[in-house]
Amino acid sequence: MAGSTGSYALLDVSQARQRLLDYFSPTSEEIVPLNESHGRILARPIESTLDLPVFTHSSMDGFAVHAVDLREARKDRPAVLSVVEDIPAGSMPQATLESRQAARIMTGAVLPEGADAVVPVEFTDHFQTDSRPGAALPEAVSIFRAVQPGDYVRERGQDIKQGAQVLATSTRLRPQDIGLLAMLGITQVSVRRRPQVALFSSGDELVPIDQPLRPGSIHDSNAYSLAASIARDGGQAIYLGIARDREESVEFLLEEAADRKVDIIISSAGVSVGAFDFVREVVRKRGELQFWRVNMRPGKPLAFGFFKTIPFVGLPGNPVSAFVGYEVFLRPAIIKMSGFTGQFRNVRRVRLGEEVESDGRESYLRARITERDGYPVAHLTGHQGSGNLLSLVQANALLIIPSGVKSLPINTEVEAWLIDEGISWARFPDHA
Ligand code: AMP
Ligand code: MG
Repeated sequence: MAGSTGSYALLDVSQARQRLLDYFSPTSEEIVPLNESHGRILARPIESTLDLPVFTHSSMDGFAVHAVDLREARKDRPAVLSVVEDIPAGSMPQATLESRQAARIMTGAVLPEGADAVVPVEFTDHFQTDSRPGAALPEAVSIFRAVQPGDYVRERGQDIKQGAQVLATSTRLRPQDIGLLAMLGITQVSVRRRPQVALFSSGDELVPIDQPLRPGSIHDSNAYSLAASIARDGGQAIYLGIARDREESVEFLLEEAADRKVDIIISSAGVSVGAFDFVREVVRKRGELQFWRVNMRPGKPLAFGFFKTIPFVGLPGNPVSAFVGYEVFLRPAIIKMSGFTGQFRNVRRVRLGEEVESDGRESYLRARITERDGYPVAHLTGHQGSGNLLSLVQANALLIIPSGVKSLPINTEVEAWLIDEGISWARFPDHA
């Protein structure tokens, strides 16, 4: 049966993707320490356990005052207040501030009772003369400017009220989110388990990258690009090695994946119509083949099914096909398992900088987008053969040419998926 096309219908991309995605759901929860939570997906919402700020404090180094005492203060007629207390950060004020009194206060220190504003030291006669480390507490301060009640004061709960939700379920934790959790004294968080993704390559021509090439052999590169994609998407890639072009060898690695109870198995190559393409056959015999072949370019011979009960995706072997197949089908699946529900694709409408030919399949063309007169314009990066990795390396986007289209003139607007990571959004303006 290997080599024949069997009775599997050629599916549209969106049809195939939907059928595949329906089989996936978010992984279970696990608890991780805060300092290992970067990039993880929250399994539960986080509510603030505190008011933030926790207490009303000064936002400047200066003097706590009654604003009313400074109503008339000017450069040539300063308000002179007696300084009754020193309030460094981390200490508690001892006295209630009376009328015409000031307390020297540092940024982050508790505002004393009675005070309703802070005057920055820059507005006083102590700027430069006394505003240095270790300066003794002055007896009086001359203030050259009025302030309003609340100036340079951060009220308790101004930012966040206790009990308010600060992070929603499905948030992918960023450094700033982690900072907020730390502010709340949260030491561990409940996140989704990273999807476990078993990965193997297949082909008698493949050798591991740390071994010299023999005549007729090539390095197994797909495993590396796929493992990197999996990690970026929040999965944990478990590389099982290279299956030989024999049924037993493919079966052996599939069994190993099953033993590890992974969430999904991904292979590359051996799913086409070659006389040695055994992968599909093994899955059909030992599990269930859901679909095979999608009406796309590159990446048509893509298989989806189950080995035993574990979802299995057989990507095509050509490096660009494997990359695109991952991007189109596996990325959404792994992200769905990861629990992230936000936008993960960076999609733009762009203009073709040249005429583009297609063959009627939904095509994913390698292109470089640059900005011209404020608009993103796409040029193909070169040879679009599915084995030509350089044009993918030089690309920063995949252009989507819809099915049924044979050619598109220059300046046509098409959808592009940006494939550079950490891409500058500003360089790719949205436009109507
Ligand atoms: P196949 O799907 O087995 O017919 O393979 C299609 C093409 O992809 C062939 O030229 C293979 O040599 C190549 N290929 C298969 N697996 C890999 C891999 N892991 N890394 C790089 N190229 C591969
Ligand atoms: Mg092969």
